[in-house]
Amino acid sequence: MEVLRANDDVRRRATQARQAGETIGLVPTMGFLHAGHRALIERARAENGRVAVSVFVNPTQFGPTEDFARYPRDEDRDLALCQEAGVDWVYAPSVEELYPHGQPGTLVTPPEGLTTSLCGEFRPGHFTGVATVVAKLFALWGPDRAYFGLKDFQQTAVLRRMAADLCFPVALVLAPTIRETDGLALSSRNIYLDPAERQAALAIPRALQAGWEQARVAGSRPSAVLEAAARHLTGMQVQYLSLVDRDSLEPATDLGRPAVLAIAAYSGKTRLIDNVALDGPAPLALAASAQEGVA
Ligand code: AMP
Repeated sequence: MEVLRANDDVRRRATQARQAGETIGLVPTMGFLHAGHRALIERARAENGRVAVSVFVNPTQFGPTEDFARYPRDEDRDLALCQEAGVDWVYAPSVEELYPHGQPGTLVTPPEGLTTSLCGEFRPGHFTGVATVVAKLFALWGPDRAYFGLKDFQQTAVLRRMAADLCFPVALVLAPTIRETDGLALSSRNIYLDPAERQAALAIPRALQAGWEQARVAGSRPSAVLEAAARHLTGMQVQYLSLVDRDSLEPATDLGRPAVLAIAAYSGKTRLIDNVALDGPAPLALAASAQEGVA
């Protein structure tokens, strides 16, 4: 495994791989890797000749009052996990390497319809930062496939659209959310939670589970799904609880079309997000099987 810091080295390695007829799978991350990232890496490993993992805490996707400076970082541990998972290249550039002219530089702005709801409403500029950095990674690596987690559901919608609009010849592979056995979605930010906050955070997967079950009751409407979920969140500071159309991200008006129930809520000072596709597997049932998959 090689650790690359310079964009020129990335281009060299990517060109060599292509000349050798190997496909490249790219897993973009902000590091502090956990079993959710690892599942993406393992999938990339299984599906490509070469696997690149980027580890970059991207300043342009954090708002001025957000946690960029204190976002958890542990490069040694990340490198060990990547090595063990059979990664070929870890790309861990400095901020100056990716943004040599400072910020903001040239930006990739996703269409408004995908960024006004859910996290977009509360994190202005966030998805522009995400789309911009991922576009740069695509331009540098030219991956055949890029791997993203459905834990960040709105991000996957934004990036699918970005790749299509900017004509990147890359297949986006979207992978299910990996959870702890008690249902909490893995997140680098879980490290911020003390034991009581972590316990309180379990209300989120329970709310998703309740909404998912309510959607299975004959004749259920979106309002009933939202009410069933909301009952579990009474003790929490909820930023949003929304049921949206999977593709347009607009509020779901009936349950006849694929819909996603999504939550952002604070446990203590930590903002957590999670979601479930109502036509997919139950979030709490998934927890057990996902654990098996990454054990
Ligand atoms: P991050 O490092 O938080 O930017 O995440 C990097 C990638 O890992 C993104 O595509 C995330 O959606 C994905 N990811 C984060 N947490 C999970 C999880 N619990 N299960 C699956 N994928 C995840």
